[in-house]
Amino acid sequence: GSTVGILGGGQLGRMMALAGSAMGYRFVALDPADDSPCGQVADQIVAAYDDQEAARELARRADVITYEFENVDAGVAAMLMEESYVPQGSELLYTTQHRLREKRAIEAAGARVAPYAEIRSVDDLREAAASFGLPCVLKTATGGYDGKGQWVIRSEAEIPEAFETLSRAGTELVLEQFIRFTKELSVIAARSPQGETKAFPVAENIHVDNILHLSIVPARIDAAVQAEAERLAVRIAEGLGAVGLIAVELFLTEDGELFVNELAPRPHNSGHYTMEACRTSQFEQHVRAVCGLPLGDTALLTPVVMVNVLGEHVAPLLARMGRQDEAERRLGTSAKVHLYGKSEAKSRRKMGHVNVLASGCDAALSWIRETGIWEMPDGV
Ligand code: ATP
Ligand code: MG
Ligand code: MG
Repeated sequence: GSTVGILGGGQLGRMMALAGSAMGYRFVALDPADDSPCGQVADQIVAAYDDQEAARELARRADVITYEFENVDAGVAAMLMEESYVPQGSELLYTTQHRLREKRAIEAAGARVAPYAEIRSVDDLREAAASFGLPCVLKTATGGYDGKGQWVIRSEAEIPEAFETLSRAGTELVLEQFIRFTKELSVIAARSPQGETKAFPVAENIHVDNILHLSIVPARIDAAVQAEAERLAVRIAEGLGAVGLIAVELFLTEDGELFVNELAPRPHNSGHYTMEACRTSQFEQHVRAVCGLPLGDTALLTPVVMVNVLGEHVAPLLARMGRQDEAERRLGTSAKVHLYGKSEAKSRRKMGHVNVLASGCDAALSWIRETGIWEMPDGV
């Protein structure tokens, strides 16, 4: 069988390797952390992500190379393209590594983004904030995740501090108009090197402190909006010439308008629900795409709610796992627990997730609520 090399050895790589192993592929990951989540289930080269020598070894050992995070070093990407087969190319990485390039590409593909401006000085920021109105969101152009590298500016007085604090990251800055969304949604689309595309069902996402907490599928929105969101994701995958998965985060407004927030050219936390709830999981789909197989059917088999397991949830989850029988029978739910093999259960760290399958999302949400493990935000 062929060997797939993965840049990065986190949980996304692990779940890729688990799905792809069932399909007969071997996996080798490059990651600096000894005993990484992916290294536990696949071969691993232990080295820094930007270690050219290690990347060359990855290229030697793998027939095809993919990545599980978007901040791949440009030099390493170029070298891998030369020494091995990288069906995703480096263009998609280049685009999605930088919020300004990403927004331009989204617009060029025919989708909307929140009004934005490039910010080079505190005067730029003042001017753009005045034109967008407050609140508005200042973000670093590169490197941000889980809400790190952004600042919601709520008053003019915050402008100098917001500018100075985010400028310290040393990247360009982008100001976005604040979108008063009614829901956050995401769609994961896949595209093969031959240009075949498929989208997974839309997820409705609920964040707590900027970290994904719940993905609810089917999303509780009009069928027409669902269809439009899926169309947009496919259009973006095509417009950007994506290969493999591309996750599209969206804001839905009261008037039914969709704005693209950001993209991720890889499996996405909000797509973990596909593991049991869809005919093909996002991880299998990604392996199919990068290995040149036909894409799998993305049909939803059952309503599902995915809830993330952070460090603080691990102990109560393990303690409760055997005691949910009564609730499962009563609610007709089936909770599938996934843990990523991380040893240190630090607070706020993503340790796993649970896919709660049910006849409807309300039953799944009731199961989650009844465990008492998770703090549930208002209005879920
Ligand atoms: P991720 O972990 O998803 O990569 P990130 O740090 O890259 O997160 P964003 O997804 O850009 O950050 O923003 C985090 C959250 O902040 C969004 O999910 C949304 O709730 C809120 N947010 C971001 N931009 C805006 C905006 N322009 N208007 C309103 N809310 C926003
Ligand atoms: Mg992001
Ligand atoms: Mg995001």
